[in-house]
Amino acid sequence: MLLHCAHARYVWNLAVEQHACWRPGRRSAPGFAEQCRQLTEARRENAWLAVGNADVQQQALQDFAKARTARFASGFGEPTWRRKHVHEGFRVIGTDRVPESNPDGSPKLNAKGKQVMGRSVVVQRLNRRWARVKVPGCGWVRFRLTRTELPQAKTFRVTFRTGRWHIAFAIVPDPIPAPEPGEVIGIDRGVKITAALSDGRRLNCPQLTTRERAQIRKHQRRAARAPKGSDRKRAEYAKVARLKAREADRRKDWCEKTSTMLARTCRLIRFEKLNITTMTRSAKGTVEQPGTRVRQKAGLNRGILAQGWGLLRRRTGEKAPGRVEDVPAPYTSLRCSACGWIEKDSRKSQAEFACVSCGFTCNADENAAVNVAAGQGGIPRPRRAAGAGGVTAATSRSSAREPQPVRVEIPLP
Ligand SMILES: [Zn+2]
Repeated sequence: MLLHCAHARYVWNLAVEQHACWRPGRRSAPGFAEQCRQLTEARRENAWLAVGNADVQQQALQDFAKARTARFASGFGEPTWRRKHVHEGFRVIGTDRVPESNPDGSPKLNAKGKQVMGRSVVVQRLNRRWARVKVPGCGWVRFRLTRTELPQAKTFRVTFRTGRWHIAFAIVPDPIPAPEPGEVIGIDRGVKITAALSDGRRLNCPQLTTRERAQIRKHQRRAARAPKGSDRKRAEYAKVARLKAREADRRKDWCEKTSTMLARTCRLIRFEKLNITTMTRSAKGTVEQPGTRVRQKAGLNRGILAQGWGLLRRRTGEKAPGRVEDVPAPYTSLRCSACGWIEKDSRKSQAEFACVSCGFTCNADENAAVNVAAGQGGIPRPRRAAGAGGVTAATSRSSAREPQPVRVEIPLP
């Protein structure tokens, strides 16, 4: 399977190179069909490539073609290089021929009225927990089932990272139907409380324990002291990678469970709109103008990224399409959810909110979540709301976390 990974990576990188080296004025870079023809030629000339599975290599090209077609819409941009040890994986297309059916369940027929045959992967259940799948060139490979039913897919993808193999079947599950009657919920994402809900619930993404963090530091220290290129160094770094993978696993698991819970229990889910890429930008600055508090900002960035904000939003949107909204984030944390007054002084501390206008007190994150649920946050800019409150902020560089102090009166409904 590692050989499959190597071949798939090689073929993918060749495809990237063909497109990366293309310049205006030259003949266009080869498409999928042309690349497949070149692959056949390359397999004839290179024995080491010919020992691999042709389908695996061709699927790498197919993946590349798909990634390139979707480069504007997928959010991942132009396909890039795959690296050894980092992007190990390959796709397998099913070998079983099965009759295809339309979405309504009737058999799918082609123009001549004949049954269209599709592909399906060969999966067999071994017991309640385990099943096996046929991987070309490797025979049966056992895998642990994470769902009760057996997967019915056309293809699957095998990946290898930090000593672990994973198998993922290409299935798009049906969206979760909205509950009747359902309610609107607002979610405020923070570092102290990962997700504060407008109904008062506080959900926290599990992090590494103090002990596990100490273990990471210990292995990092040992790795740093081991001689360069030694087996010991590699082993210590592998231990660090495994512990970090555990953290990522926990985060992912939490995001999946939480997004399913939200999609099942709420009719409309509102998130505050965050640009996480901008928020987690480094404070390093340039050589001429070095930034300040760079380490602190790096720590905050790590804290933000450890919360899985982006993943929670994305997965909720995929599970409940059309039922997730983004509310503009400015002032959601400074607006009083009882009277609508916005003032920086209302936020007494990280956790405490006490309105200076009406005296309403509440947990700051919960207050923000209620504002998000109401869709209240996007307030006209202070300059446009002339005469409303009067005091405009001093023109300093605005912080990524908190808006500048502004006094704007919101008309009461
Ligand atoms: Zn108030």
